[in-house]
Amino acid sequence: MAISPEIDFDIKNLTSFKIGGKINEVFFPENLNEFEQILNENKNIKVFGNLSNTLVSTHGFDGKIVLTTKMNSSSIDGDKVIADAGVKGPKLAQDVCEAGLSGLEFMIGFPGSIGGEVFMNASANNQAISDYLLGVTCYSPIHGLLRYSKAEMAFDYRTSRCQSEDLIVLQAEFQLLPKDKSQIKAQMDENLTFRKLHQPSLALPNCGSIFKNPPGNSAGRLLDSVGAKELSVGGVRVWENHANFIVSNDNGTSTDVLELMYLMYKKVKDRYNIELEPEIRFLGGKDKRENELWQILNKK
Ligand SMILES: Cc1cc2nc3c(=O)[nH]c(=O)nc-3n(C[C@H](O)[C@H](O)[C@H](O)COP(=O)(O)OP(=O)(O)OC[C@H]3O[C@@H](n4cnc5c(N)ncnc54)[C@H](O)[C@@H]3O)c2cc1C
Repeated sequence: MAISPEIDFDIKNLTSFKIGGKINEVFFPENLNEFEQILNENKNIKVFGNLSNTLVSTHGFDGKIVLTTKMNSSSIDGDKVIADAGVKGPKLAQDVCEAGLSGLEFMIGFPGSIGGEVFMNASANNQAISDYLLGVTCYSPIHGLLRYSKAEMAFDYRTSRCQSEDLIVLQAEFQLLPKDKSQIKAQMDENLTFRKLHQPSLALPNCGSIFKNPPGNSAGRLLDSVGAKELSVGGVRVWENHANFIVSNDNGTSTDVLELMYLMYKKVKDRYNIELEPEIRFLGGKDKRENELWQILNKK
């Protein structure tokens, strides 16, 4: 039996930016079988997790997407951990801490899903998701289910094999390090304290770092040096404590964000001849101005 999507689903409140419009069809699989069935029946459908690194257009998206938020099973067996794509990073970090396993402490402070973190090779506080990964079960629109070892995943700064081959992450398997719970907890507390000083909390809607760090440089420092912290457009502004974050008030739109990103990009390009690349993803396509801006910003 076909699995029914939500129709004309207003996605705004599911995004960490609190920006977005209506999506034609949104599927919410609850387990791996449902997920695989949806992927088989809707080839090349787009998949998202916790929408903490994605700007969704206020004008919405004409098409189908999957959200993995209900795919949240995980299991721990000795030092091995298996997590479905939709498991939230902070929850998994706490669960493995309770089991006395170290290696995922970095996940405590930001709201990604395991699928999104594998796709982006998420990292923080000197740890990356790839560090303790054994393998990933993926879905390829051409080959169906495949399992890749960590070595085969082609992890690099904010990228993985998923990006070059349109692979969907279904499940990830880790082998973690047994450690004293109190030490793991202390590391997580330290990570949270660091974050409070350097990144906006989700009470100020945001999408994480806007641009990737150029090789050997820091996007935040470059942006700061060109006065980006003074910039704002409509309902969004550059965060006053770190120039690589955009925060939104209740009225911020996706066009505001893209216009502001363009101003930030242009200032750095004009001063240093460096073209910053977006770290965030964009889901849209219905608005001409937004498409123009995204095309300038996203050269790939
Ligand atoms: C306050 C804040 C702080 C942050 N700090 C950090 C940080 O320190 N380090 C860091 O790395 N990131 C950080 N981020 C960014 C973000 O949380 C990560 O990039 C995270 O990995 C995104 O996960 P997600 O599930 O929200 O992805 P989404 O935004 O849902 O998707 C992001 C991309 O991943 C793809 N994707 C999602 N799920 C799957 C799947 N199952 N299979 C294939 N592709 C998939 C989507 O198609 C999209 O291209 C931060 C974000 C916020 C809001």
